[in-house]
Amino acid sequence: MIAQVIINTNVKTLNKYFSYHIPENLENIIQIGDRVSIPFGKGDKIEEGFVVDFLENCNFETKDIIRIVDSLSQENIELAKWMAKQYFCNIAECIKLMLPPGTTTKKIEKRMKEKMVHFVKIQNEQEVIEAMQNKKIKSQKQLRVLEFLLHNQEILLSDVIQLTDTSKAVVKTLEKNGWICIFEKQVERNALAQKKVKPSKKLVFTKEQEYAYQEVAEAMDDNMDAEFLLFGVTGSGKTEVYLQLIEKALTQEKDSIMLVPEISLTPQMVNRFIARFGEEKIAVLHSKLSLGERYDAWYKIKQGRAKIIIGARSAIFAPVQNLGLLIIDEEHDSSYKSEMTPKYDAKEVAQYLSKQFHVPLLLGSATPDLPTFYQAQKEQIELLELTKRANESQLPTVEIVDLREELAKGNRSMFSEKLHQAIQSNLEKKQQTILFLNRRGYSTFIMCRDCGYTAKCKNCNISLTYHRKENMLKCHYCGYEQKPMKTCPECGSQNIRYFGTGTQKVEEQIAKLFPQATTMRMDIDTVTKKNSHEEILKKFQEEQIDILIGTQMVVKGHHFPNVTLVGVLAADSSLNMEDYRANEKTFQILTQVAGRAGREQLPGKVIIQTYNPDNIAIELASKQDYKSFYDTEITIRKQLKYPPFCDIIIIGVSGLKVTKVQEVSQKIHQEIKQQILQNKIGLLLYPVVPAPIDKINNQYRYRILIKCLYNPTIQDLIQKVLEKQYTVKDIRISIDVNPNNMM
Ligand code: ADP
Ligand code: ZN
Ligand code: ZN
Repeated sequence: MIAQVIINTNVKTLNKYFSYHIPENLENIIQIGDRVSIPFGKGDKIEEGFVVDFLENCNFETKDIIRIVDSLSQENIELAKWMAKQYFCNIAECIKLMLPPGTTTKKIEKRMKEKMVHFVKIQNEQEVIEAMQNKKIKSQKQLRVLEFLLHNQEILLSDVIQLTDTSKAVVKTLEKNGWICIFEKQVERNALAQKKVKPSKKLVFTKEQEYAYQEVAEAMDDNMDAEFLLFGVTGSGKTEVYLQLIEKALTQEKDSIMLVPEISLTPQMVNRFIARFGEEKIAVLHSKLSLGERYDAWYKIKQGRAKIIIGARSAIFAPVQNLGLLIIDEEHDSSYKSEMTPKYDAKEVAQYLSKQFHVPLLLGSATPDLPTFYQAQKEQIELLELTKRANESQLPTVEIVDLREELAKGNRSMFSEKLHQAIQSNLEKKQQTILFLNRRGYSTFIMCRDCGYTAKCKNCNISLTYHRKENMLKCHYCGYEQKPMKTCPECGSQNIRYFGTGTQKVEEQIAKLFPQATTMRMDIDTVTKKNSHEEILKKFQEEQIDILIGTQMVVKGHHFPNVTLVGVLAADSSLNMEDYRANEKTFQILTQVAGRAGREQLPGKVIIQTYNPDNIAIELASKQDYKSFYDTEITIRKQLKYPPFCDIIIIGVSGLKVTKVQEVSQKIHQEIKQQILQNKIGLLLYPVVPAPIDKINNQYRYRILIKCLYNPTIQDLIQKVLEKQYTVKDIRISIDVNPNNMM
């Protein structure tokens, strides 16, 4: 028999099946999905591959498979094949997402060793006791160790040495004389360890929750691949619905995967699940785990010990044994789409899995992704609504402040009079405040007032951001940094101004205006350390902090009962993105921010400062009116042919030599054009243009934009055209379907 094998590589030209002979000893055990060692190429270098198919025979000579390393399932391989087509990447790159963390077999073996720990125990208790009584053992130190071990069964070698105040040599001697034995044991590094959480009981559902629960529960009973949208304002009790559905899956002895945005994956959030189900059955997967922790969590799932998987995007590939339920919370969140190859969308993968395993998929959001809500309107997804806050708390009152009027009044500070007063009064009442800014750093950019020169990154053609702490201008794309200039390099003027507002600047201003207040800043710069995110939230939660200043990450799903004021300093910053979703993103973020205030008994207040008070996204977010927003926005999308009415495909070409980049781009463009004409395919092809950021890290970037209804015919067409260009040297080609980032 012959096995068809995919080589584990991201080299585009090797994305095909290679035939290998199956030696006799493997004939009866080899399966689709097996990871195998194989000789490859001229020198028969040992490579890793994956069995994707079998043939009876083939008419040329084939090499032998060396051995089987481990196995994935046939379903994994099917999914990888589908993904490779859908997202224009190698099958192997998709399979990698499903392998145990740490890819190579060598690494796995090394890691297994690392987490082996030495334990000590008595060989034969009776003999030891007799020997001690008969004074056969004289050394005081040895006696101390034996005494200690008689009271403790198995114990860490390091603990024995420390607690008996002896040395490794002493223990070794005892081992040599046969009294004790030292042995290796595997320990699990558990990211959830040392969590003490008060158990929680399930709540009595409201009518709306009950209905939502029943609909999904029925689909679970019937093994249906139905898709649901749980649409409910923040605090409407979506999580409680998830909890009880997961409980149902557990009683069916099935596994649940719940995805949450990476930055919502806080201890606070995970604790709600631990409180309900205990820590044993839960595995958490996210990028901040150490490789070892991820590896252990992976095996905990693979061995069926963890039945509830909570994680960010890539947790959709968790090796569950018996899938019963898929949940994606905050389904509108852009982090579900990967921006790295494979550029998959976890929501689409979830839809695929739902069909593959006949399990329901539940999407939840207060501000659903427009295409999702569109599907719900067309009844392709069942809409389940929670219209009220579950604990009877009121939605906060929202006020919009026009910053243009503030300027006219002569107020040049970043706080309007209203916001200033509200912060003051909150401090007096000892209630907490969140100030939200969609930007990190100190100032966005620095500019010459006389000639308008702005400092840009020399590698990326994008404005540099000023970071005050280091007194540096930094590029957020490539990491380039330089000292801020004192004189303008263009005109020599010394009239340099720092424009814009960053979280650091807000913190500084607050310290000046409210010296009695304790503040804390939370943005990507302050949370890069492993647990700092957690610590900041914990401190804030425990009410040691009056004012929390932060970017996006302060607004995601947290529940702070004592927060009664939320101030949005500049609602406009997300409106100015070069992206057709600018309005949608502004609406989402403002609704989320507003949802942080007044979540329990204390009533909440939100103040939104803006230069565009008439903008529809800002106005409707202030009313928490998703449906009106949807209605206006969907009309625009239809007119302008944006998703969900059309898909957007961006073919990006980049390289160091601008002429070569242009040349390849043009070639691709021409060929697609030819194909469209020949095959009469309905597809809008735009001309080759430089990308909005036309240079990153010295790589010139050009792009071709296509609008169409994405389908297998178009997939094949693009694949065929691009295949010819993959071999061009020093040129990178990337394809992104409905990308997050249009830049
Ligand atoms: P969401 O996930 O929609 O933001 P949560 O599930 O976090 O909402 O619920 C918000 C608050 O309401 C929580 O404190 C939760 O304990 C409470 N809650 C949820 N469902 C109920 C219920 N049926 N009865 C009473 N309180 C509830
Ligand atoms: Zn100048
Ligand atoms: Zn740069």
